Formats: sequence, structure tokens, C-alpha cells
Amino acid sequence: MELTVATPPGRQLQGVGVSPGIARGRIVRMGAPLPAPSAQRSALTSSEELATARSAMASVAEDLRARADLVEEPARGVLRAQALMAADPSLSDDVARRVNAGRTAARAVWEACSSFRETLAQSRLGDRVADLDDVRDRIVAACRGVTPPQVPDPGHPFVLAARALSPADTAGLRADQVRAIVTAEGSATSHTAILARSLGIPAVVGCADVLDLADGTPVMVHGTLGIVEVDVESFDEAPLATVTPAARVSGSRARTVDGVDVAVMANIGQPSESGSAAAAGAEGVGLLRTEFLYLRADSPPSIAEQTAALTQVMSAFPDGLVVVRLLDAGGEKPLPFLTSGHEPNPALGVRGLRALRQHENVLDQQLDAVVAAAARTSARVAVMAPMVTDADDASWFVSKVRARPGWPADIEIGVMIETPAAALTAEAVLAVCDFASIGTNDLAQYVMAADRSLAALSGLQNPWHPAVLELVARAAAAGERLAKPVGVCGEAAADPLLALVFAGMGVGSLSMSWSAMDDVRSMLAQHSMASCVAAASAALRSGDAAAARAAAKSALAGA
Ligand code: PEP
Ligand code: MG
Repeated sequence: MELTVATPPGRQLQGVGVSPGIARGRIVRMGAPLPAPSAQRSALTSSEELATARSAMASVAEDLRARADLVEEPARGVLRAQALMAADPSLSDDVARRVNAGRTAARAVWEACSSFRETLAQSRLGDRVADLDDVRDRIVAACRGVTPPQVPDPGHPFVLAARALSPADTAGLRADQVRAIVTAEGSATSHTAILARSLGIPAVVGCADVLDLADGTPVMVHGTLGIVEVDVESFDEAPLATVTPAARVSGSRARTVDGVDVAVMANIGQPSESGSAAAAGAEGVGLLRTEFLYLRADSPPSIAEQTAALTQVMSAFPDGLVVVRLLDAGGEKPLPFLTSGHEPNPALGVRGLRALRQHENVLDQQLDAVVAAAARTSARVAVMAPMVTDADDASWFVSKVRARPGWPADIEIGVMIETPAAALTAEAVLAVCDFASIGTNDLAQYVMAADRSLAALSGLQNPWHPAVLELVARAAAAGERLAKPVGVCGEAAADPLLALVFAGMGVGSLSMSWSAMDDVRSMLAQHSMASCVAAASAALRSGDAAAARAAAKSALAGA
């Protein structure tokens, strides 16, 4: 059978896929950023320059706050954080010092932001450098009385190409106009990537060659593979929706052509996404990342606040399952009140369940909020622990949850399999809990010894690698032996071909960004479980990621 999602032919540019989906359209480029202001001495007095700088900072902070009020989370929080950067008193003091030393307002802002930038780049908040650059450019433009480059509006749907795209620009994008985003810079964990995912717009970052494409070039963007296919053949001028495989099965249950059910569920990072996920036919939430409640807080949110947010998500799935992943702090998600911030290798540090074991009060409050929210809705609810190392961790967690006063017996208790240790001992881990969900993002990071937040290593962060697949297969097999459900909730499940491979390994549920669900359901609907099994074993016998993908594809084509 011919695959409808395959490695595309023709000239291809490679980047990093950060928001799934496949879309085609003509390139429209964002204007070039403003040049750095000159370092010449100011001809004005320092108080005139200072007044200009202060009013530019204030107006940019105000503009970002106003934009934040127009959008939902996660964009709102990102823009508010940027507004705080623009109004930061230490930045303002630094600008004043430089103005007093003879700099123009624009140059002083540029230099002060550069020094702040260096500190940020060396910290664990390195991903936020792009947010600061955007704030800097906006203030510099305001000092000069010009507008910074805007997202173009050609009057028809297009593929947006840019060196980098700021969170403020991304937040304002209309998904019916911008079919896909391709940027030369950026990383999978940048706010732009996160916002593109939440808007459901396919996106590829780190694709330097996109800057060489002229406006109007027809392209096909593969948001999972990170590929931009250039000068796509038979490009159709007619308005096109996002291109997905032929058989759209939106809203129906996912099953293979021979009738084997595979649950297709949504990964949710914000309650506001739950409506879109339900409308896109998610059978439930396979991964509710609860970090959104904490990331911008100085102290844990109240139980009432948590309950309200969880209730919002559960209410969107009155007949579905909602798996609440308990707080995964640490690693690339530091939290001042929970993690130390001084670990040399945070990804290998006190994160996930390890942090919760040290802060049982935070865990207790989360559990109480889950119980309260579950009582308010008809959704089936489960909890799962992040970053579980082994059966000892799993058993500590399960006993702890069961011992919580008032814990309802029908809320299932599971764990994430994200470490090689947990995957290799999956049978012992599963023996003590109700289910497991494999986090392929972290599993790939730990198996490949490649930091998931480093764009330079994104090539190694490949869930197709047979070493990663081998561990997924072991965990799935352990689940089958013990008759306990094992799912995949890493973004790898959003790759339609890999989803078939996981299904062939015995993975019973696939959870992903909601915008990727249609492609996955479609692929499942076109293949039998026997072909999925053949694809899985072909991939597992391969020597590297590319070979595994090619082998899975040809096994499916020959089946
Ligand atoms: C994973 O690691 O695959 C996962 C789903 O968890 P997160 O991406 O939130 O770490
Ligand atoms: Mg993880």
C-alpha cells in the first residue's frame, strides 16, 4: 500500500520540526530586523535621551500588556513576562548609566539589553534570550520613532518565513492566514515553538536556508519531520486547507483497517487548549502537563485555583479519560520554590517525582485538587508521576497516592516511563501501578545522551533511533504481559508513521498535540495491525534512525 505521509521528494531544506502538521503555501518573508543603533555620541543632552528611553520602555511595556490582554494562555503569560522585562528597573538603571556616559537612548537600550542577554544566555533561562531580543528591538524602534518589522498581510493564506519570530508576533497570528511558520533560528523549547503548537500551526525552526527563498516560492512544510520541500510540484493556486492524508477521519474513533482500536488522545499544556482538542476529536487527554499552574508563580497555586483549572479541562471531556501528569519541575522547567537552580546537570538532577518526593506538600495539594475536580465532572480521571526512575519510585508514588485521605478508588494511578532504567525494568514498574505512559521526549534525551533543549543536538533527539524504539518495545511488551495499558505521550506519537510502529509494538494509546491527531487517525485507518507489527519489527532491526524509518515505510508499502 502506498503511504500518504512519506519523506517528500525534490529539493528539501532541513530544520527542526516543532509543531506538527503538514501544510503548503507560498513563502512570504518577514521584513529584516532593524540594524544595531550607532555607537556615536549623542548630540542631545542626557536628560533628553533619558526621557526618550524611559518613554520608549514604558510604551513598549504598555503595548505588550495590552497585547497580552487580547490573547489566551500560554501567549498571555509569555507577553506579560516580556512586558515585565521592558519595565525592569535594573534594565532602566543600566540604560540611564549608559545615557549619562553619552550614548543615545537607542544605543543605551541596545547595550543594556546585550549585557542582560549575556547573563540570561548563560543561565538555565537561555531559551528566553529570543524574548529579550524582541523586547530590545521594540524599545529601540520606539526610541527612533519607527515601527519594528510586522507580520506581513498579503491578503491571502501564506507560509511565513522569518529569521526569528517573536512571541508577540506569533501570538497574533491567524491560523486561517498563516498555514505554516519556518524560521532560520529558534529551538523546540522557544516560546515561538510553544505558541505555534498551541495555535495548531505547523512550524519548523532552525532552517537557515529558508532565508534564501524568494517571496512567492511554493513550499510544503512538514512540521513533524522538520522538512521544507521547495518548489513543490503541481502547486495549486486554489485556496488550500492544511494538507493531510486523503481519508480524514476527524471525530471518529481511531482504529486500524482491520478494526483494532488505538486511542488517539491530546497532550494539553493549558486549559484553554482543551476545547480545541475536544473539537478535533481527542478521545481524552493522555497528558495534561500541570506545569502551567506553576511556571510563572513564586509560590504554589492554591488548591482552589488548581481545582478550577483541572475542572476546565475535565469538563471538556465528559465521556473521556483525562490523565493528569503531576508537576514535572526541574530539568528544563526550573521552579524557584521547588528546585535548587544550582545543579550542574539539571536534566539529570532533582526533577519530576524526585522533586515531589522532597516536597510532599506540593504533591498533596495537587492530589487534593485532582480529587476535587474529578468530583465535579463526569470525566474518567487518572494521575501519573513524571520522571520515575524505577519500581521503588513507582511503588512510593502509588502507596502515597492510595494513602491520601479520601482518595477515590476509581482514579487510576500510573507513571511515566522516561528513563532507560524505567523502560528496562518496565515489568517491575508496571507491577505496582495501573498503567504507564512513555515520554519519548525525555526517553530519547536520556537514551541518546543529548540534551533536548539544545538545538545543536536536535538531530540526535530522534525517537526513530532503534535504541529508543527498543526501549519503547520493551515497555509495551511488559504491559502486554501484565495486561496493563501502556501508551506513548511524547511528541513522537504525532509522527503518523511512527504512530503505526508504536501501535505495532502493542502501544494502546497515543497522545499528541491535538493538531496532529487527524494525520495519525488517518494513517491508522489505512493500515492493518499486521502491517503495523511488520513495520515495528523492521524498524527495530535497523541500525540507525534513518534506516529505521525507511525500513518501516517499506514494510508498510510491501504489506
Ligand atoms: C516526554 O518527556 O516525552 C513528555 C511527554 O514529557 P515532557 O515533554 O513534558 O517532559
Ligand atoms: Mg518528560
